[in-house]
Amino acid sequence: MPRQRKANGVAAMKPRGLPLGSVEVITGSMFSGKTEELIRRVKRARFAKQTVQAFKPRIDDRYDAEKIVSHAAAEEGSSKVLSAVAVANSESLAARVLEETQVVAVDEAQFFDRGIVDVVQRLADQGVRVIVAGLDQDYLGRPFHPMPELMAIAEDVTKVHAVCTVCGGEASRSQRLIEDRGTVLVGGSESYEARCRTCFEARDVTRSR
Ligand code: ADP
Ligand code: MG
Ligand code: ZN
Repeated sequence: MPRQRKANGVAAMKPRGLPLGSVEVITGSMFSGKTEELIRRVKRARFAKQTVQAFKPRIDDRYDAEKIVSHAAAEEGSSKVLSAVAVANSESLAARVLEETQVVAVDEAQFFDRGIVDVVQRLADQGVRVIVAGLDQDYLGRPFHPMPELMAIAEDVTKVHAVCTVCGGEASRSQRLIEDRGTVLVGGSESYEARCRTCFEARDVTRSR
């Protein structure tokens, strides 16, 4: 028989039947199909009649302020687009998650503040399946926080790869093509391309000035 919550409110054990929360991370370079994979998982959850909410940071307005859009969308149409709520920070995301939500999807998680780690952890503890997608490295190949922390607390981490635009190999890095200061430069193929370890050049253009 499943154990009941103690009278003083302290749970002796999670009662059976409580939804099992978890954290999944999808990560890799730009154009590696992180967003495609996130959308695929969300669609499967919806087929399973689960309640899903999708979020993205407000900073990422490349295609649409209220949609998660894969780079493949232009080629393949609307199946690569997902409606999402754009939020300013992790606190705002947490405040928008509804009681009945079973799956929370977050794209471009590297643009969130560190508070996202606690928010994700808390949601999973409450039984929510949290699927997080984001860049593992910045334009210099450095770990892109808070992705390392999210990977650490995740039950499952998937690294996806793009095709290196130079040699055709497996790309794991995002080469910035234009000079710009700062880690955050939101852009697409006009500003970045996917490169493998060998073809990637970690250039800090801010230092050469
Ligand atoms: P991410 O979210 O990781 O940036 P997307 O899901 O938005 O990736 O886009 C993946 C799609 O990008 C691929 O299916 C393909 O259509 C397109 N693409 C463009 N350049 C490349 C590349 N160099 N390697 C792989 N896919 C690429
Ligand atoms: Mg993406
Ligand atoms: Zn290469």
